[in-house]
Amino acid sequence: MLICIDPGHGGRHPGAVHGDLVEKDIALNIALAMRECVEQKNHVSVVMTRETDEYVSIGERARIANRANADLFVSIHLNADPDPDEPCMHEASGEEILVYSELSTAYRLAQHMATTIDQVVPGAFRGVKFRPDLGVLAYTHMPAMLIECGFIDNTTGGQQLAEHPEVAGKIIARALLDAWGMQGNC
Ligand SMILES: [Zn+2]
Repeated sequence: MLICIDPGHGGRHPGAVHGDLVEKDIALNIALAMRECVEQKNHVSVVMTRETDEYVSIGERARIANRANADLFVSIHLNADPDPDEPCMHEASGEEILVYSELSTAYRLAQHMATTIDQVVPGAFRGVKFRPDLGVLAYTHMPAMLIECGFIDNTTGGQQLAEHPEVAGKIIARALLDAWGMQGNC
């Protein structure tokens, strides 16, 4: 099995920023931890769309996965709450998985992953959502999903993802392998 892991943003595209937390850096660290975990499994290999802080276009991310003939494409992102962070206001929390449509194979996999992915950050899993407008989901030729690991501007969740990306990486790796019918060993 070949998994294409796609750390969101990079280079001149920081993604969401909250204080000193930057989405592109946290997403890369989570993605690298995921790779380390899934590669411990026999017969699983990984192709990355980026391994450093570099800009990679959406089209190129999909091309990397398509050229490698990956079995699965997983993009790693963090969410941001558009509301201003004011004291006593309700904070957005939890994880999301985005897939192309209800007919995608990825939709079935994502539903299977929900319970495990819910352990990534505090707050309830927000559900599997359909985003046919996202290039990485539309242009890839294999089951593809985008995981919003949590909100960068959530007081506990953002900090936790930044400080312990390996925890999120392992949970996501386990969820993926499990949905694929394999047992994760990390
Ligand atoms: Zn993002």
